[in-house]
Amino acid sequence: MGTDPQKLGSVPNFEILTELGLVPTWRLRARAGADSAPDALAAPEPAAPPARRAGAPEDAEARAVRIARLEWRDFAADVDACVACGLAGTRKKSVPGVGDAHAEWLLVGEAPGSEEDAKGEPFVGQAGKLLDNMLAALGMKRGENVYIANVLKCRPPNNRTPEPREIGACRPYLDRQIALIGPKLIVALGKSAATTLLGVDATIASLRGRVHRYQGVPLVVTYHPAYLLRNLPDKAKAWEDLLLARRALRGGAVADAV
Ligand code: URA
Repeated sequence: MGTDPQKLGSVPNFEILTELGLVPTWRLRARAGADSAPDALAAPEPAAPPARRAGAPEDAEARAVRIARLEWRDFAADVDACVACGLAGTRKKSVPGVGDAHAEWLLVGEAPGSEEDAKGEPFVGQAGKLLDNMLAALGMKRGENVYIANVLKCRPPNNRTPEPREIGACRPYLDRQIALIGPKLIVALGKSAATTLLGVDATIASLRGRVHRYQGVPLVVTYHPAYLLRNLPDKAKAWEDLLLARRALRGGAVADAV
């Protein structure tokens, strides 16, 4: 553990306790006034996510627990430092997500493309422009009551389809985003997002047109904007999906899957 033995003899070191899995712990609350003795036991503080130490191996379970405790302030840096699946070796910038941290709408795409990779922001290329137009048609705007994320936070080389191993490694980040945002509605954009979140292998055509649920949150599936750019007639269906999503958010559409 490489611990300074002198520290062990004095006040319990929070870092050591964390490493031993002995948190949450009780800490003495300091009284106002510089050198006064502490006089009251404070309520147990939520365990801070144990910091990831450079070079130290981290098993998948410990990693998932750590990510599940991340706060927004540490989220993007943690994604940026992640090397769990290997895509960090080929991408330029990580793309954690963008938008209102407590949005009602959460849109989930597949993975960053080349423009997102260069900018570090999701959906900024042609598909992103279409997505922005679709939001505008609903009277909405990127960043205002909307959060946009991807299943993968790093670009796969040549925009290839994400591998199950990569999706599994990145999943704790998406789950943490959902927990932090607490959306009232999730829109899965395309097959990767839909099948990842719903845990089924099915086509968009078979999943769209109804309201699913993800951890109790209504979830609507629609076509990926990049697909719509190549298949213009399906834009009308995507528009129907967004209207269904809006009804689901307002409580007017019945969820039929759990
Ligand atoms: N396609 C996606 O799925 N996500 C992006 O951020 C860009 C393109």
